[in-house]
Amino acid sequence: MGTDLTKIILDEHEMPRQWYNIQADLPVPLPPPVGMDGTPISPDDLAQVFPMNLIEQEMSTERWIDIPEEVLSILKLWRPSPLYRAKRLEKALGTPAKIFYKNEGVSPAGSHKPNTAVPQAWYNKQFGIKYLTTETGAGQWGSALAMSCKLIGIECKVFMVRISFDQKPFRKIMMKTWGAECIASPSRETAIGRRILEEMPDTPGSLGIAISEAIEQAVEREDTRYALGSVLNHVMLHQSIIGLEAQKQFEKIGLYPDVVIGCAGGGSNFAGISFPFICDKIHGKDIQIIATEPEACPTLTKGPYIYDSGDVALMTPLLAMHSLGHGFIPPAIHAGGLRYHGMAPLVSHVKQLGLIEATALPQTECYEAALLFAHTEGFIPAPETSHAIAQTIREAKKAKEEGKERVILMNWSGHGLMDLQGYDAFLSGKLSDYALPDELLQQSLAAVRNHPKPPGA
Ligand SMILES: *Cc1c(COP(=O)(O)O)cnc(C)c1O
Repeated sequence: MGTDLTKIILDEHEMPRQWYNIQADLPVPLPPPVGMDGTPISPDDLAQVFPMNLIEQEMSTERWIDIPEEVLSILKLWRPSPLYRAKRLEKALGTPAKIFYKNEGVSPAGSHKPNTAVPQAWYNKQFGIKYLTTETGAGQWGSALAMSCKLIGIECKVFMVRISFDQKPFRKIMMKTWGAECIASPSRETAIGRRILEEMPDTPGSLGIAISEAIEQAVEREDTRYALGSVLNHVMLHQSIIGLEAQKQFEKIGLYPDVVIGCAGGGSNFAGISFPFICDKIHGKDIQIIATEPEACPTLTKGPYIYDSGDVALMTPLLAMHSLGHGFIPPAIHAGGLRYHGMAPLVSHVKQLGLIEATALPQTECYEAALLFAHTEGFIPAPETSHAIAQTIREAKKAKEEGKERVILMNWSGHGLMDLQGYDAFLSGKLSDYALPDELLQQSLAAVRNHPKPPGA
């Protein structure tokens, strides 16, 4: 009966009231962040950058963490998010597979990012912080944090990667509309920004550079901290609400997915949809979990598992993760949110443990998938999301070849209404595929040769 529904909706009172922390269930514990000498850092080492209440969450191994009431009440502006059955896409593909997508594009900022931006702003405010600095690639994180800071009542300043600042002027206006300051990175406002501009005046910028700038400004002031939109454990924790809701939604219709798919930039939307299902997998469920990334920035598929810094200037501790090297400047593909050199330590770790698989996809296949999605389901996806769609289509085609009625769950991480330049370029035949050449990867990795090695690497 329930499987005929086009969308499965939860009531507000059915919304999860706790986040799920995968650290409680890992068969092998996550290697800790370390300093250059390989010794684990202490919570105090992070205290200038993050408020202590979030540092505690970052290090927690508690399975369930309560979502504060005020955070819940703000998340309810758009949550629970609908789980859609992509019936018209299934029909176009002629597949026996059932395709479901969790629509995170319904948030005010248009992506999953407010799921963590709201709690991060809230915990900072609780700790007495008045000002948050951050970086943004395509602008989704910057706009999510700008909105959240406004709703919670603190100030926000965003360093936006130059290439996106120029390609995506409307995101910048969204940030300003929500009262935040938005600056192109590298900028002249910070020492690291000035140094990079001298060395490379025409650089398109990178998330690694923008993070260095934002941290530099955060540590200078007592009432200021830094917020990161992905990668860190507490971000994965906040995003777990996506998968927890999806589990309840599948329960309602008496189904369970065979495959879970998410695109991975820093890993947060992928972790959000998949970690509650990985918990089931650790406890014996047979389920396939796939992270997808661009061929131009193939962190999980080509980057080695190493200790590397989250930023260019080595201001963050070393994290055990798949990385293309902290100095890596990715090519200017339109999926700006997937242009990051590293990957969440938790996502890297579950990959090391064989709990997930990863694939790298060419840009044009992703745009074709995005068009087919828009032509059948109506919604125009973000270029990042199109990577999850393209992988979903591959799986649906495989199900057709094998004659299997597989249940596929994809995270629809955000809409593409602020990313139309990419669509314009694709529709006018200006986009081509670009796989990262091995020489460039080797050059970039030379800089991390002397870093300590994580266990199991
Ligand atoms: C930021 C973003 C991503 C990539 O970031 P993750 O941390 O890997 O989720 C993917 N999709 C959308 C729509 C985004 O805004």
